[in-house]
Amino acid sequence: MFDINHIRAQFPILNQQVNGKPLVYLDNAATSQKPISVLETWEKYYETINANVHRGIHTLSQLATEEMELSRKKIQRFINAKHDYEVIFTKGTTEGINLVAYALTNQIKKDDEIIISYLEHHSNIVPWQMLCERTGAKLRVIPMDENGILQIDVLDSWLNEKTKVVSVNQVSNALGIINPIEEIIEKTRRLSNAYVLIDGAQSAPHFKIDVQKLDCDFFVFSGHKMYAPMGTGILYGKESVLENLHPFHGGGEMIAVCSFEKTTYAGLPFKFEAGTPNVGGNIALGAAVDFIEQIGHDNLQIHENELLTYAQKKLLELDGIKIYGEKANRTGVVSFNLDGVGIASDTGMILDKMGIAVRTGHHCTQPIMDFFNIAGTVRASFAVYNTLEEIDILVEGVKKAQRMLV
Ligand code: PMP
Repeated sequence: MFDINHIRAQFPILNQQVNGKPLVYLDNAATSQKPISVLETWEKYYETINANVHRGIHTLSQLATEEMELSRKKIQRFINAKHDYEVIFTKGTTEGINLVAYALTNQIKKDDEIIISYLEHHSNIVPWQMLCERTGAKLRVIPMDENGILQIDVLDSWLNEKTKVVSVNQVSNALGIINPIEEIIEKTRRLSNAYVLIDGAQSAPHFKIDVQKLDCDFFVFSGHKMYAPMGTGILYGKESVLENLHPFHGGGEMIAVCSFEKTTYAGLPFKFEAGTPNVGGNIALGAAVDFIEQIGHDNLQIHENELLTYAQKKLLELDGIKIYGEKANRTGVVSFNLDGVGIASDTGMILDKMGIAVRTGHHCTQPIMDFFNIAGTVRASFAVYNTLEEIDILVEGVKKAQRMLV
């Protein structure tokens, strides 16, 4: 049974007043709040077994290692990876994409091509631009239409032996649009030998992920957007692909043998996990996976779809509002502007005074803002603990902003 009160009771942070009003937290695409089970797991780690992992003979080190490796297995199941060593702990999506883009450097040459989409977060743009700078490869960007729908037919003529990477997000953080990644992967496999990276930062918190069914080479996401602590994240890579990849960071934990003459690298996943990991955070990420699985993906989807449908309907009942990507298939996000209000943050400030947390600005997606010829949007984004009553409060807030600003 999906019991929203029971769920909300697990998030102590929600039970507070902000600016004298009950907090309405609608900035979940930036980061989600954390349930008690995650907070307690993290705290218990530091209270009872804190020790460095993998190289300790003493008991605490072994316990910490066991817990972290257990968490890796949970995440393996969560995304249906074939092996636990295909799951690499990172500090977030940004690090995962940078890792791959850097590690591929020696496989890319001048005039090779890397394809991304118009709907990407800066962290799925800039690392590829930097790779292009290092290698002389070219970046191509799948265009979108005025609804924010990607025009993936271009791939039929773009994909060929020059294409080395196709990197797209499953869900856009700025607009919440669900991209047709299955079709993108199918085309890429059929027409090229390119690697496929899926940025799952905005999908892992909402959808059941099956990396084997998707048949992607890499899948990256951030823990902090799916109820886990900040500074956690995952890079999934197919075993055969990871084996072929040069390491990113050099240092402790990632070597087999180190000498001044020659160093050899450890096997997977440690080859890509140089240095002391975020052990407590990584263990707590496992607790976040448990939290999501206890709710169940079906319940999550039904509830979040209800929130989105209701929010869109209620907001569109107002005059003078534009929702970006209104006609596209979306999840979790309503991104909008009010006619006559040039600066989205003006709306954001009025909402904040009413205890409502939304994000305003370009959402690290400046090309999307340029496309729509705007500086930014107001973005309300949902998580499992949000309610229809909170959407009503948001709509009242937007009406107030219209009264004050228009
Ligand atoms: N990609 C997408 C689609 C995102 O939404 C975000 C975070 N807003 C990122 C990448 C970057 O994630 P992080 O800052 O956690 O590394």
